[in-house]
Amino acid sequence: MKTSAALSRIAPSRTTGMTDRASALRAAGRDIISLSVGEPDFATPPHVADAAKRAIDEGQTRYTPVAGTIALRTAAALHFQRDLGIATVPETVIVSSGGKQAIFHALLATLDPGDEVLIPAPWWVSYPEIVRFAGGVPVDVPTDAAGGYRITAEQLDALITPRTRWLLLNSPGNPTGSVYSADDLGKIANVLDRHPHVMVLSDDIYAPLRYLAGRHVTLAALRPDLANRVLTVSGVSKSHAMTGFRIGVSAGPGWLIMAMAKLQSHSSGNPCSISQAAAVAAFEGPQGYLADWCGQFRTRRDTVVSAINAIPGLSTPAPDGAFYCLVDAAPHMSRFGDDEALCLHFLDHGVAVVAASAFGGKAGFRISFAADQATLDDACRRLAKALR
Ligand code: GLU
Repeated sequence: MKTSAALSRIAPSRTTGMTDRASALRAAGRDIISLSVGEPDFATPPHVADAAKRAIDEGQTRYTPVAGTIALRTAAALHFQRDLGIATVPETVIVSSGGKQAIFHALLATLDPGDEVLIPAPWWVSYPEIVRFAGGVPVDVPTDAAGGYRITAEQLDALITPRTRWLLLNSPGNPTGSVYSADDLGKIANVLDRHPHVMVLSDDIYAPLRYLAGRHVTLAALRPDLANRVLTVSGVSKSHAMTGFRIGVSAGPGWLIMAMAKLQSHSSGNPCSISQAAAVAAFEGPQGYLADWCGQFRTRRDTVVSAINAIPGLSTPAPDGAFYCLVDAAPHMSRFGDDEALCLHFLDHGVAVVAASAFGGKAGFRISFAADQATLDDACRRLAKALR
């Protein structure tokens, strides 16, 4: 039997792959610290968990509208306005089973064979795979540590072709932690003004996790006149420690939200009704603890960055947002051959991290610092020992 041509164009996710591998080793009794997947270690807030329990008790266990309950679309519209500065209404918001599904549906609903999608590299592992599955062509926009892992307006202008359908932006970014300023986005928007056929998918899932002064800036808020060309993806997974609930929310032009809902009506149907009730509580409940969590992530970032930079042959800049460091390990490549082999060596020493090549980077690895301080300290000691 054979699988489809579309499936053969993609590879399994190397973030979830490494995490599954680490879980299997743990289940077999091995002492493994998993810093491969990006998920907050904090407990889901009690008022959110209570809302989920109440939803079950009250019988909210049936189908909801495919694009999400009115209650959650309304709460999400509040979130987009309050937290991201995007004026929207519930009708132009869709709820999906995680941000990943929203991106999947948006690209599947809009790409024809050969359509190009510009993706700043290094990228989150699933972006190019989803593009390829949809028949599109991912086009890397290279970035580096010296440039803060941000694309420039000039690069963008040079890479747009008549076949360009989307530009993908992810700020704060996974795996680099790059954060675009209002100035950066303003220049990018000026280029987009000259290319009205290009849409922007702005993945803002890490917006609450930024370590710079000032507010998060996103394209649809900065340039509302472009908002009819921008899909902004957000959610509760990273911000409210709700990764397992699988709730993503997106705001964009009505035609695109309807197209995504059409696809969703045939794929998953509605997102989990219980998770939706919990997400309402997350968006509408107290938000004060988010700043405290962000402060804790910042402290962890600082200790991990200095511990890694103290290990001979490893170096990383301090990320401005999200909870990952993209570590350069080039001096060790002659010993290990490639970064996948290096990560397997680390796994042998009890730490799961993901090779930079999984994200279109090279000769390094991504480490998540979404774990408690003692675990992070232990992990850094193990990395140092593994390289001695
Ligand atoms: N976005 C997270 C990560 O990069 C979750 C895992 C995934 O879906 O890739 O680790």
